Amino acid sequence: MKEVAKNVYQIALFPRNGINCYVIDDILVDAGIRSSANKILNAIKHSDITKHVLTHAHPDHQGASSIVCTKRNIPLLTSEIEKEHAESGKVIYDYPNHRHLIAKFQQRYWAGSGHKVSHLLREGDEVGSFTVIETPGHSKGHISLFREKDGVLIVGDTLVNMNLLTTIPGLHEPPGLFTTDRIENRKSIHKLFNLKPKILCFGHGPVLYDKGEFEQFMATL
Ligand SMILES: [Zn+2]
Repeated sequence: MKEVAKNVYQIALFPRNGINCYVIDDILVDAGIRSSANKILNAIKHSDITKHVLTHAHPDHQGASSIVCTKRNIPLLTSEIEKEHAESGKVIYDYPNHRHLIAKFQQRYWAGSGHKVSHLLREGDEVGSFTVIETPGHSKGHISLFREKDGVLIVGDTLVNMNLLTTIPGLHEPPGLFTTDRIENRKSIHKLFNLKPKILCFGHGPVLYDKGEFEQFMATL
């Protein structure tokens, strides 16, 4: 685990930060793909984790959720809209085209089994020292997490910080192939920008200690 800010740690699950999850306070946020389970369990073995939160129930975020929750005996928390997918384990059906070959591949090889959601999160709820920000668009019930006092933002997939084909770092909107409503997601990007975050933690790509990059990106939207 790599320390990002006070009580915020990144677990890089893929090379070049291709897929990340995070520990904030005593909470695991997101859980990679199914085969990430051992890596996550190993990373958190000395941590006193008490819950697991999903930014959204896509196969590269909920893949290991059920295994980790079961092994560590911790509850799973999602937004109300993501609950259905997190519980059923059917996690690609909000993609614009769930019949796409890549979507089918993800459902088959990345997605984890469903897991009971114990508690629902909504705008303004407190998750450790963070606050829930509803950021729909990439998925219908997507949430981000923000800590105002030092500007740490768990972005989820509202924005990504790498080109997912070349892996070169840089801010991008998430791929259309996996984004339910791009217009709605763009509104959510504006919502996050207005929070003036200082440290941005992405599902995909390295952490951004913002020195104006977010503002530059907004000018291109
Ligand atoms: Zn996603």
